[in-house]
Amino acid sequence: MPLYLMFMLVILFVVAVSYFAKAAVLEFEQVADNDVLRVKSMYLEIIARKDALAAEKLRLQDEADRIFQMYELTREVTATFDEKEAFAAFKAHVDRRLMLEDCRLVDDVPLDVDDPVTFQGYRFFPLRSKQMILGEVAYKGLAAGDEEAFTVLVHQLALALRRIRLYNEVENLAITDSLTRMNTRRHLAERFEEEFNRAQLRHASLSILMIDVDHFKRINDQHGHLAGDAALREIARLIAYHIREIDIAGRYGGEEFCVILPDTDKQGALVVAERIRMAIAQEKIRAYDTTLQVTVSAGVATFPDDAFQMDELLDKSDWALYRAKKSGRDRVAGFSVYGDPAGA
Ligand code: GH3
Ligand code: MG
Ligand code: MG
Repeated sequence: MPLYLMFMLVILFVVAVSYFAKAAVLEFEQVADNDVLRVKSMYLEIIARKDALAAEKLRLQDEADRIFQMYELTREVTATFDEKEAFAAFKAHVDRRLMLEDCRLVDDVPLDVDDPVTFQGYRFFPLRSKQMILGEVAYKGLAAGDEEAFTVLVHQLALALRRIRLYNEVENLAITDSLTRMNTRRHLAERFEEEFNRAQLRHASLSILMIDVDHFKRINDQHGHLAGDAALREIARLIAYHIREIDIAGRYGGEEFCVILPDTDKQGALVVAERIRMAIAQEKIRAYDTTLQVTVSAGVATFPDDAFQMDELLDKSDWALYRAKKSGRDRVAGFSVYGDPAGA
């Protein structure tokens, strides 16, 4: 084959090879471009999904925070059956969580409106639950961003107050106190009247013991209300154990007990009171996972030595109790004369 023909063939071959190589490269580039575009759109999609997830996470965190706040508040305000304590727990919670200048519980502002009204810089929020008007919360200086949270928390307070009112109504109707199984104050008053009339008719003596747990608030604060309740149950049991069948014991108030001792003179009543005081002081009260030691103070007054009227007798036993407290607690005092409680 002549040389020029061979040369031509080589050139043709090179041209053909470079043509096909270029086409292959172009095609490869096209595929690569498509891949890049596909990966890029996937990347953008992932970024968008990540942003959406971050927003959802924030929303869920807010929601969890809100639910936790409500749970915490509900736990705090339902730990007590005292309205003032429930409000104090609410206020402490609100002060911790929201920006607010002042907030108080009022029940003497007549309100017929649903919307809060403004009065002397305060806004009044009616506390309502199921048609029950429970008072108002007066507040001022609430940060605009906290209004919704405040509304929700006030609603929780209203529920707690309603629960307390209903509980107290039921307690008032009952003969037996649900915590201590003792007579309620109302029933005790009825029994007191019967016994007092009988003592008057028979010219018999009758004594009253007024017993109050010492520093009980501290016990609640240190060990919780449930432990406090357990202590009250145990104190009630000890009182009932140390009195006679004919004596009548009752829960007079929160941590205050009253015992009516028919046919018992002052001296006898002081002995019973001292026996109860000592039994309680010596008892190690098991309350859940703690052991408590509590003391009580007691006041004693006797018919007819100290008083001829029921009210006066009660008042004098209360005065004697006050004297026992003032002179150091964990002791019994008999009524002698009204005067400086720390003295005599
Ligand atoms: P003092 O020695 O002067 O009597 O002090 P105190 O702390 O016992 O008296 P205070 O009257 O200040 O407190 C009584 C406390 O009793 C306040 C209240 O929380 C608590 N309390 C009243 N009723 C109950 C109840 O049913 N359960 C519990 N756990 N605590 C109660
Ligand atoms: Mg007390
Ligand atoms: Mg008391």
